[in-house]
Amino acid sequence: MIEVGEFEFSYKDHAMRSYILKATPLSSDHVMITYEYISELKKVKSELTQKNKDLKEKNSSLEEFAYIASHDLQQPLNTINGFVGIFKSKYLDLLDETGLKCLNYIEEASNRLRNMILGILEHSRLGTNIVVTTVDLNETLDDIVKDLQGIITKKEGEVRIGNLPKVEGCAIGLRLLFQNLIENGLKYQKDNNKPIIDISFEEKEGSYLFHIKDNGIGIQEEHKDKIFQVFQRLHTDETIYKGSGLGLANCQKIVQLCGGKLWVESVYGEGSTFSFTLPKK
Ligand code: ADP
Repeated sequence: MIEVGEFEFSYKDHAMRSYILKATPLSSDHVMITYEYISELKKVKSELTQKNKDLKEKNSSLEEFAYIASHDLQQPLNTINGFVGIFKSKYLDLLDETGLKCLNYIEEASNRLRNMILGILEHSRLGTNIVVTTVDLNETLDDIVKDLQGIITKKEGEVRIGNLPKVEGCAIGLRLLFQNLIENGLKYQKDNNKPIIDISFEEKEGSYLFHIKDNGIGIQEEHKDKIFQVFQRLHTDETIYKGSGLGLANCQKIVQLCGGKLWVESVYGEGSTFSFTLPKK
């Protein structure tokens, strides 16, 4: 007896052209046979694979460059900082108000530069030393909330967490990802607004879909892509919202390394929902 079901196989003809042959049962005694010439398809596929490989190589050499450059930049910066310190301690009396102001600007700028360099180093290192384990996200989120309790209490905020799944992934990366998104939700709020952060997930066929929803200031449509780029900040007034502009770029990189996608939906003035997928392994 022949088993009823669709099947397909590929073969090459005498001129080495490739075909896919497909047999689809129409009824108990009729089968439809179709064939598809796939040489062009194969060519495109192999070109795509090659391009992907090139892109990966370019990306990793770019990351290596970022790592080396940022590492080497620290040396001259330490010299600047060191001499500013010496100058301040030994020659402060010789400076008038403008001179002191200038020196303080140099000090502030070099501190900012140091933070940027450390940020680039951290960003370029993401993805090295990945250890994949089973991560219980309920435990991860418990730890994060404990660490953020100070700011949550200060802002009279609330972090609501549904029951989360266990996933296969890098515990450190996943923690950084959730923590950055929650911290942003707590931070980008209107004056005196009590932050409410909702964390939920949906189980899809091949992946988990997570949502981190806040009731914050929201993001305008034209800025939704820009915020995931390195050092892109919509709020540069450090006295209101402090930050490095690397949080979301790091989140983006972590999600991509896991094979997922990260995006944001927002109503300006009302709040934002950051969503990301994590493929089931
Ligand atoms: P940082 O917070 O250090 O500035 P991020 O990369 O985390 O850097 O975020 C980039 C920018 O995106 C922020 O400067 C802010 O303008 C905007 N942003 C991030 N998260 C939110 C949020 N939940 N609500 C509103 N704006 C946000």
